[in-house]
Amino acid sequence: GHPPPPAEPLAPHDVFIAVKTTRKFHRARLDLLLETWISRHKQMTFIFTDGEDEALARRTGNVVNTNCSAAHSRQALSCKMAVEFDHFMESGRKWFCHVDDDNYVNVRALLRLLASYPHTQDVYIGKPSLDRPIQATERVSENTMRPVHFWFATGGAGFCISRGLALKMSPWASRGHFMNTAERIRLPDDCTIGYIVEALLGVPLIRSGLFHSHLENLQQVPASELHEQVTLSYGMFENKRNAIHVKGPFSVEADPSRFRSIHCHLYPDTPWCPRTSIF
Ligand code: UDP
Ligand code: MN
Repeated sequence: GHPPPPAEPLAPHDVFIAVKTTRKFHRARLDLLLETWISRHKQMTFIFTDGEDEALARRTGNVVNTNCSAAHSRQALSCKMAVEFDHFMESGRKWFCHVDDDNYVNVRALLRLLASYPHTQDVYIGKPSLDRPIQATERVSENTMRPVHFWFATGGAGFCISRGLALKMSPWASRGHFMNTAERIRLPDDCTIGYIVEALLGVPLIRSGLFHSHLENLQQVPASELHEQVTLSYGMFENKRNAIHVKGPFSVEADPSRFRSIHCHLYPDTPWCPRTSIF
């Protein structure tokens, strides 16, 4: 459904969107985002990567080389999340949102959603990645372990955190500490966020059906409801190509992610979109 009416007006520079990527996906994934949603929202969007790229630096000033390893290891991904969190804290903005480089962010819908919550309160919003809380083992001390369970928002669908909550998370999530916290449960970066928010701070995840990863059947998102969706994705699901089902203006062959077609649907005045879609 529709988010409740605004609690506070939000301007684009109130939101910090961190896009996690890696050197080998700059051409394969990031260029598509720069041509589509990021092109409209350059001042909100910050790219966190692991390798120098002059071509990328020429297109946007908001590139952060994390100096984290380019491996797909838990540690490397936690390292990137920690750097994202620190840059957000430094930015002074009201909202932190994290997405992957295979996410389309519908920024107008995102701003509508976030404006319905006060940024000074504890807000953690996204799509739960499982249908029940994750069971983990928490290393409390050198030789004490205990079971812990909590919900977390799947990183692949994107999630957002208010500044009020981020301030409380800082002792576990800020520079240096995030990596240690992640080691306490030995789970990926998005689980670690859920662990800090739900298990350590007792703040419940707000579930939203407006965030989407490629681990759900994206064909089920109706094209008529694209304007309301906050994030979209594409990729593989159950060994099949998974993307939003939306008609033209680009064919599936020319636009397999469907992001170009979605972008023309949401921003028909884009110069490279067929003019007919305006009328
Ligand atoms: N990623 C990364 N380092 C790697 C591999 C992936 O930072 O070595 C990032 C990638 O750019 C994306 C996210 O991690 O933003 C998830 O990667 P991917 O979509 O390939 O995997 P998934 O978890 O969705 O299957
Ligand atoms: Mn992915």
